[in-house]
Amino acid sequence: MVQKQTKKTFYAGETLMQEGEGGNAAYIIESGKVEILVTRGTNQLCIGTRGPGSLIGEMAMIDDQPRTATVRAIEDCDVIEITRNDFEGWIENADPVLKMIIHVILTRYRDMLERAVFNNDIQTNAEEQEHQSGLHDTAINAIKMKNELQKAIGADLALFYQPIIDIKNKKIAGFEALMRWFHPDKGMISPAAFIPIAEQSGLIIDMSSWALEEACMASHRFNQSIEKKSNAHDNLYVSVNFSVRDFNSPNVFDRIKDTFEKTQTPTQNIHLEVTESLLVEKPDIAKETLEKCQDLGISISIDDFGTGYSSLSYLHAFPINTLKIDRSFIMSMLNKENSLTLVKSIIGLAQNLNMNVIAEGIEYEEEASTLLNLNCQKCQGYWFGKPMPEDEAIAFIKEWSPPRY
Ligand code: C2E
Ligand code: CA
Ligand code: CA
Repeated sequence: MVQKQTKKTFYAGETLMQEGEGGNAAYIIESGKVEILVTRGTNQLCIGTRGPGSLIGEMAMIDDQPRTATVRAIEDCDVIEITRNDFEGWIENADPVLKMIIHVILTRYRDMLERAVFNNDIQTNAEEQEHQSGLHDTAINAIKMKNELQKAIGADLALFYQPIIDIKNKKIAGFEALMRWFHPDKGMISPAAFIPIAEQSGLIIDMSSWALEEACMASHRFNQSIEKKSNAHDNLYVSVNFSVRDFNSPNVFDRIKDTFEKTQTPTQNIHLEVTESLLVEKPDIAKETLEKCQDLGISISIDDFGTGYSSLSYLHAFPINTLKIDRSFIMSMLNKENSLTLVKSIIGLAQNLNMNVIAEGIEYEEEASTLLNLNCQKCQGYWFGKPMPEDEAIAFIKEWSPPRY
């Protein structure tokens, strides 16, 4: 057997997994064919074959039972290995009711398999049935993408930086760090395509740690590039997005604190962006962790404000420094009276609660001037600057001259 990272090759005749043994890995077959064998008395009975695109060996990892079958390569097979750790990442995030249902179904399936083998009543077209369901392809794609993403951390992932402008003082306030994946075959992939998979699989925890460290180091370089002249910017910050799943990790605060120490970053250089859903789904963990972050000097922003949950009670229950008004309200405020009223209300709410406010998604000059008249301090959007690589962000700082609005 030849092993290269998570890909493996099994040659014809080799056994991939053995009936009765514990399961430490499942495989997705990329090429080649395997047969599935079960023992009946003293004989081994072939109950089916599997080819490219099939997932094999997942059952023993989900319910911790011994393997029900032996799987042997009948052609040379290239497979992607999914370790127990990988699986636990997905399962940990699953709904508890679904987890219970999966266990019940697996137990029934094992019983049925035993009975079928005993009665010699074996269906061999299971593979076809699995492939017919769209769910199968979605799951296999998610697993493949997760494996690729894991290798991309520190290699093919990058942060782009979008300027956040203080429209009153006409200065750059900071940048939001937005992740990009430069896939070796598929080119640049937007976060909308890979962040959900990273969240579901638990990989986001490593990705956020990586992003925080990158952002800390970039914040030093941004601040070093400020020209020492009269209209220079104040200390520039980098705002880093954290997902709900990041707060599942028991040592999230320690990892944040360690990153600041390791990179010797002043805590005012970094803001954390979280969504309202964190405060609703994990109120206790969120409150404790965010309070510790704020005590350390890290500023907390609520992202996409206004799109999540209607209860405003959390605004005074949690340590929040900034509300970011969602792009959907800004987009429609010039032609929908209701949106404009909402934008005005959020700005007023933030001011009354002594919070900062950032309007997201400004694409037109008129939006910027309207927001200035509404007393909105900070703005972010394509009109000021799109997300850009670090070197362009540094040039943006050096060449800054505020647009007219
Ligand atoms: P978000 O945090 O709300 O980020 C703002 C998104 O709006 C970014 O999309 C940005 O490029 C886009 N945007 C900014 N200004 C404009 C504008 O004027 N017009 C339009 N049409 N769009 C604008 P992006 O970079 O594709 O990111 C999408 C989402 O992916 C982010 O939404 C965030 O939820 C998530 N994401 C991105 N990077 C990270 C990350 O490092 N960690 C986590 N957990 N999530 C991330
Ligand atoms: Ca954000
Ligand atoms: Ca946002």
